[in-house]
Amino acid sequence: SAEVQLSGTTRVITVSNQKGGVGKTTTTVNVAAALASLGARVLVIDLDPQGNASTALGVPHTADTPSVYDVLIDEFPIADVVQTSPESPNLLCAPSTIHLAGAEIELVSQVAREHRLKTALDEYLAIPDHRLDFVLIDCPPSLGLLTINAFTAADELLIPIQCEYYALEGLSQLLGTVRMIQKHLNPSLHLSSILLTMYDGRTRLAQQVAEEVREHFPDDVLHTVIPRSVRVSEAPSFGQTVIAYDGQSAGAVAYREAAVEIVQRKSATETEQES
Ligand code: ADP
Ligand code: MG
Repeated sequence: SAEVQLSGTTRVITVSNQKGGVGKTTTTVNVAAALASLGARVLVIDLDPQGNASTALGVPHTADTPSVYDVLIDEFPIADVVQTSPESPNLLCAPSTIHLAGAEIELVSQVAREHRLKTALDEYLAIPDHRLDFVLIDCPPSLGLLTINAFTAADELLIPIQCEYYALEGLSQLLGTVRMIQKHLNPSLHLSSILLTMYDGRTRLAQQVAEEVREHFPDDVLHTVIPRSVRVSEAPSFGQTVIAYDGQSAGAVAYREAAVEIVQRKSATETEQES
């Protein structure tokens, strides 16, 4: 698309917030699908044992499916577990299965336990056929070893924040973990963007929360806000993202705008650094 200029390098973005139900999975799959619709080649890594991202991308993830569990615990190559979403040939998914629920504990006794995803991803990306523009990692709602593997593998952190009470609660703990990761495991990890989700403009509360988050993080919050929309919440039950399910709906339009912003913000940063 003429709207976006892809950088030619692979951007690895982890979508994290240790609170559940804030829109991590919804953001991961819809930003990924929107990026794919703009011509980008995108891999979603589903690190949540619930497998909601795999479901939304229409990718089978029954217990016997080769999955991210096998990558983390048995050192399977990512190529052996990747599936293509029926939605787009540009949209790939490394699915999660229920086995991943045990990985949090099993990883504790493994060698290089924090680096397992990073190592597997580097090996995958080293193969010329595996050219990707984006890798998006959907995290579980905790700051355990699965999320730490995501933080170690990624350069960028995208935090979805639900426009509700206590929106900022837990954020200092999240950012503290990021600083710990920067210091000990991955100096290139940085907060790349904050996305306000489930915004209901009719309520004072949502407006207040949005203002408060923008005051705290003036440079990080995307201009685009994701509205609360029934179409967004219905799409996964059809094994689809809202981009495919109802591309003209307000939620799909907003997620496409957010994806364009994510592409453009990075190009803007690169230009600043060059000058
Ligand atoms: P998380 O991954 O952080 O736990 P989810 O993405 O699964 O959060 O979202 C939590 C719930 O909110 C899901 O049922 C999802 O369908 C719903 N949801 C997320 N975003 C929206 C939205 N913009 N409008 C309506 N419902 C939403
Ligand atoms: Mg989730």
